[in-house]
Amino acid sequence: MSAPNPDHYLRLAGHVCLRLLEEPFLYDRRSDELYELNEEGLEALKKCRGHLTMEQVGLEPEFAQVCLEEGLLELSPAPWPMPLTLGPGPSPSLRYLELQITWRCNLACAHCYLGAAQKVDLSVKRVAAVLREFEAMGGLRVMLSGGEPLMHPQWNEINALLAALPLRRVLLSNGLLLEDALDGLNCDEVQISLDGLETGHERLRGKSSFAKAVAAAQAVKDSGRNLSIATMAHADNLGEMAGLEELVRDLGAGEWGIDAPCLTGRLGEHPELAVTPQQAAQAMARAYGGAFHGGGGGMACGLHLATVAADGKMAQCGFYLDQPLGRVEEGLWACWARRKAVKIDELAGCRDCEAADDCGGGCRFRAHGPLEPDPVMCAAYGMEPKEKA
Ligand code: SF4
Ligand code: SF4
Repeated sequence: MSAPNPDHYLRLAGHVCLRLLEEPFLYDRRSDELYELNEEGLEALKKCRGHLTMEQVGLEPEFAQVCLEEGLLELSPAPWPMPLTLGPGPSPSLRYLELQITWRCNLACAHCYLGAAQKVDLSVKRVAAVLREFEAMGGLRVMLSGGEPLMHPQWNEINALLAALPLRRVLLSNGLLLEDALDGLNCDEVQISLDGLETGHERLRGKSSFAKAVAAAQAVKDSGRNLSIATMAHADNLGEMAGLEELVRDLGAGEWGIDAPCLTGRLGEHPELAVTPQQAAQAMARAYGGAFHGGGGGMACGLHLATVAADGKMAQCGFYLDQPLGRVEEGLWACWARRKAVKIDELAGCRDCEAADDCGGGCRFRAHGPLEPDPVMCAAYGMEPKEKA
């Protein structure tokens, strides 16, 4: 790349924003990368709003060159001002939001933790307000889920809201309705559920669902969007995991999340689908890519995550909707302020565990008790779960 013209005007690329989280960051929603900034870098990037030339901004030339090469900054021969609103967010930061826009669904999966589908939807007005507040709080990634989000009666209006949203927009779908929605879909990433090869997948999701889900995943990839795959390990897909891994990689999925079933929701009626912690851990070892359920800094899981449900409740994650933080009418900020982060040191079963730093205390819901260890993660790290005190 030739040397940039110092008289050209510099601004942050459209897919990039500044965030004041625990540290200042530059966030690239296209790649989902967070770049930590020092104070000097932050102050310089705050000036990159299209109203000053590269020379006036005074960015260190090598840094500017790298940012331009990575597509994080853009140059124009004429001014092209952009607004910048940058306030400090809450602590801990709320970075990831699962937004269950509807509880309608076109499937009745045997493992659904929400149980039976319901005609309950968040209104478009409410979705707009939640997205606005989440962005103002410094949010990074919104995951539109359900139910099946494409079943929302005003899906097209919600999709239109996403167009100008400077966050990573992820659609979590079973794929059955995706063909009609993909054209014009304002999402950076689509996550398709694939719960095995044909037998394992259809054991949970019903006849003829597998080929449609695979075709949807392929269509996402062909559309140029990021594809991720979510899988539930269960008793009837364990033998398919090697073949499924091949398929997921062939499809070009950037992330593959594998979860272990918790016997809640409709899965409570199907105990035959349960797997042992060892089997779950073995299956989950194949997963790859980013994670947003994690903790950090000595805190347990879900430190930066919340769920807003179709009935307006906000909770620390989808498994805790029966213990909500509040309702969206109160505002996300007010609800999030009630979130009590859990210190790993306070977990009786985990505090002395030598794997605690890596494991982070596992999934608190799967631990089946506020202080217990998570048996699946104990199996993953070769630890014996401690008996209850
Ligand atoms: S309880 Fe489990 S599902 Fe909820 S945030 Fe923690 S790891 Fe994720
Ligand atoms: S391996 Fe088990 S005991 Fe150790 S931190 Fe993880 S859940 Fe806790």
